Amino acid sequence: MKHHYFSLDYYRLKRIGKILDKINSLAPQMQALSDEELRQKTTVFKERLQKGESLDSLLPEAFAVVREVDKRVLGQFPYDVQVIGAIILHEGNLAEMKTGEGKTLTATMPLYLNALTEKSVFLVTTSSYLAIRDATEMAPVYQFLGLSVGVGVAEDDKEQLSAKQKKLIYQQDIVYTTNSALGFDYLIDNLAISKDTKYMPELYYAIVDEADAVLLDMAQTPLVISGSPRLQSNLHTYANDFILSLTEEEDFHYDQESQEIWLTQKGIDQAERYFSDQQLFSEDNFDLIRRLVLSLRAHYLFEKGKDYVVEKGKEGLEIKLLDKSNGRILEGNKLQGGQHQALEAKEGCKITDESRAVASITYQNLFLMFEKLSGMTGTGKVAEDEFVEVYNMEVIQVPTHKPIQRIDYPDKIYTTLPEKLLASMQLVKEIYAKKQPILLVTGSVRMSELYSELLLLEKIPHNLLNAHHAAKEAEMIAEAGQLGSVTVATNMAGRGTDIKLGEGVEALGGLAVIGTERMESERIDLQMRGRSGRQGDPGFSQFFVSLEDDLITKNGDEWAQDYFKKHQKERENKSPKALTQARFRRLVKAAQEKSDGIGKRQRLTTLEYDESVKVQRQLVYNERNQLIFGGHEQLDALQLIGAEIDAFIDSQTDLNEFVVRQFIFENLTYHLDFFHELIPLSKHALREFLMELASHNLAAKQAFLKEDYDDFVRAALLKAIDEAWIEEVDYLQQLRTVVASRQTAQRNPYFEYHKEALAAYQEMRKEVHRLLVRNLLLSEVSYNEKDEVEIYFA
Ligand code: ADP
Ligand code: MG
Repeated sequence: MKHHYFSLDYYRLKRIGKILDKINSLAPQMQALSDEELRQKTTVFKERLQKGESLDSLLPEAFAVVREVDKRVLGQFPYDVQVIGAIILHEGNLAEMKTGEGKTLTATMPLYLNALTEKSVFLVTTSSYLAIRDATEMAPVYQFLGLSVGVGVAEDDKEQLSAKQKKLIYQQDIVYTTNSALGFDYLIDNLAISKDTKYMPELYYAIVDEADAVLLDMAQTPLVISGSPRLQSNLHTYANDFILSLTEEEDFHYDQESQEIWLTQKGIDQAERYFSDQQLFSEDNFDLIRRLVLSLRAHYLFEKGKDYVVEKGKEGLEIKLLDKSNGRILEGNKLQGGQHQALEAKEGCKITDESRAVASITYQNLFLMFEKLSGMTGTGKVAEDEFVEVYNMEVIQVPTHKPIQRIDYPDKIYTTLPEKLLASMQLVKEIYAKKQPILLVTGSVRMSELYSELLLLEKIPHNLLNAHHAAKEAEMIAEAGQLGSVTVATNMAGRGTDIKLGEGVEALGGLAVIGTERMESERIDLQMRGRSGRQGDPGFSQFFVSLEDDLITKNGDEWAQDYFKKHQKERENKSPKALTQARFRRLVKAAQEKSDGIGKRQRLTTLEYDESVKVQRQLVYNERNQLIFGGHEQLDALQLIGAEIDAFIDSQTDLNEFVVRQFIFENLTYHLDFFHELIPLSKHALREFLMELASHNLAAKQAFLKEDYDDFVRAALLKAIDEAWIEEVDYLQQLRTVVASRQTAQRNPYFEYHKEALAAYQEMRKEVHRLLVRNLLLSEVSYNEKDEVEIYFA
């Protein structure tokens, strides 16, 4: 498999190499140009584009220009390998470039080239700190060439950018931003009700830095904008009581790989008895079923102390979520879709308000909207399958500028955790004695703290980082290459910051990376190893594993647990003994492969479910945009009203004055004299009477608003779409939970989900019409002092 990829990259690089030759041959020519002549190139390129030349054909010259400007402005002339990376990025693929190879500089070439189209061009990274740092450092290059740069995040994380500021930022030629800022801006932009507050350009081209972190590790995290709270109910508590009465295996089934959990037929029978309802699993009990699933998940998928903690807050006991990557409390974060309330019921906390989702999108689908998407990271190759499958991006390994000298030693494997701790500390002490710098990487905050204590006991001064203050951590991690420095870090800490070696360190063998456990994905191990040996520096990496590690207990073969139980006692209080047989090495490898596979499958599942939401969101957002920016079809309001009236009349078996009056007040007008007006009750006459009421009402508005009438209709429709869509988003989120309960009947949950999602969409379209009629007829319009139309919707 490896070999196959390798040779494929060989041919890919060969083709790219020919383009590189062209760029190299242009270098002397560019060097001979004056600053002013270089600057002029931007105008020339844009003209050539307008005359129909393609970006690909401009590429060699444009890259040669940027390269020369990089040199003049930053004093850094992009190496050949960086130009190769730049070509890969322009072609919409993923460039695997190791840490320290200079990805930031590489991106200047494709960003410049693609910005020549005057469409939106983004560099997306994981933290505000990195976005600001890279934008600030590279801006002089673009400015030299007459292009503008915007930063999509506020300097201070607590600050919010106003719509006006955002509009200005998104108008810049090149925008540096973070994945979360971009995602939320996209959602907020699509809640805007007028041109003035819309700022998002069409999503044309993005380079995602640390692409595996954003496009894979965070892919499932939905970005959610929450709205008003849902009505409180006792269902969470009922559901919780019932779930407590169940036994595993018998009443429900848990599938570790898909992380799905569902009731078996026995469990369903049990529920029907418990709630005395033979038809429990039907449409009518949507809410209860949803709560049952949420409660089941709360009990069996969420672990206290690992996923969340229970702490005393202002209002008694509260659930606080923990950040998976570093184990810290995520202050103020709540699980979506009612899962948080299910946990509260489980832990006997006060049940908080369940808020409704108003708008949401996952990172996967956010980035799939770009016309052209590319990425760069030190670790992408091992996930090439997934990048191809999900993002249609090839992963191409770019050779390093200088040969890699780092040595990656095979893992040291031990039976027990104490043996592993002792052995790894032993190595740390030896290296520290030589003053060789050490980066000690752990898989959790708990472990990083434990190692920190062990180091204190040994009187070894060190920095402890666990991924929270990106700016401060960047500073610490940058220091990690100094003589005698010891840095303990969780695996996400300081990503994106380069570790440069201090004086005299090279002679000592460079940076030592010591991994205290193998991580849940091979990519993360590779990231950690790659912190050492940048730009041809010496260095080494050594990972330690014990059979008690999470990775092994969760994903390892069963024989490993048996082996552990059998030998645990005899290993107590002995000096560490490494397990050197090949089967232990295979065990670790297989466990990590399994873990990687689970992660991948979960991401594909999310994507699969997300498909319906994606299609619907696209339709609705397009419709909104047409309304806001014009180009929408003229509405035949009276025809829609007629259809609503017909639907009402047809739905009534017994037309009486009371229901008709009610219909009128809820849909057509408030201005009807309740007691005196005579209402005909024959179908035909009634229809005419109601149509007369409606058209009279509408004609009055039209006469009053004159040329503003069209705007009024537009606003009424927009409001109808938004109200109905918000309901739909919320419903789809809940539906996802409910279909999980249907696995028992051998049904395909995806199919069920998409079927019901489509039905819900069709319902929603009807709801839009219903709401539109109400908005048109029951609203009041007036002019304010500034002569603007004001509309009061019912
Ligand atoms: P990466 O993101 O690939 O880990 P960075 O973009 O952070 O790497 O760059 C690492 C360091 O290398 C930076 O200090 C940068 O200034 C330097 N660098 C990058 N490219 C060049 C170059 N062509 N010439 C000189 N220095 C460079
Ligand atoms: Mg970087």
